[in-house]
Amino acid sequence: MAHDGHHDDGGSALDEMTLRVRALESLLVEKGYVDPPALDLLIETYEKKVGPRNGARVVARAWSDPDYKARLLADGTAAIAELGYSGRQGEHIKVVENTGQTHNMVVCTLCSCYPWPVLGLPPVWYKSAPYRSRAVADPRGVLAEFGVTLPPETAVRVWDSTAEMRYLVLPLRPAGTEGWDEDRLADLVTRDSMIGTGLALAPAEVEAGA
Ligand code: FE
Repeated sequence: MAHDGHHDDGGSALDEMTLRVRALESLLVEKGYVDPPALDLLIETYEKKVGPRNGARVVARAWSDPDYKARLLADGTAAIAELGYSGRQGEHIKVVENTGQTHNMVVCTLCSCYPWPVLGLPPVWYKSAPYRSRAVADPRGVLAEFGVTLPPETAVRVWDSTAEMRYLVLPLRPAGTEGWDEDRLADLVTRDSMIGTGLALAPAEVEAGA
């Protein structure tokens, strides 16, 4: 539907990028400059920790500041840029808010469109064919595999990203966080909670080192 431009945007450019990265990686490994497991760890860190920190700060601000939240829901791109996050793959970001009635989940059924400025690199599963097809056909089944069980009365809404529009989920603020400052709140915001395949952590989960 609104998928025009997908492959212009990500397809060929990414293929060339992938080839270049692979060539660079084999050269570095061959010369003994990098150790493949160390490189995997670096990539994993960027996917899970560094990249999504930006999104976590956006969510924590929205939880703390109702005016900011209103601006974020009205114009995600502009409100995210207020915090200094903008750039490629983030030109048009729509923020969708989870409520007791609706849980939002994001997919890109055709490729792997993803809001880079707030989430960093997409995880491998996000780009996988099973996630891309099943997120639409059986969102509750996918959520169950991620360990998420929603109350039966909560509707699941799936948003299909495109080159023109990327989505960021605003997760529900966990109970027991009244009076928390933004830094503490941001530690509860996981990458998956902003894709909609997870929920924000409960305070006890952070204390337990989850
Ligand atoms: Fe895509």
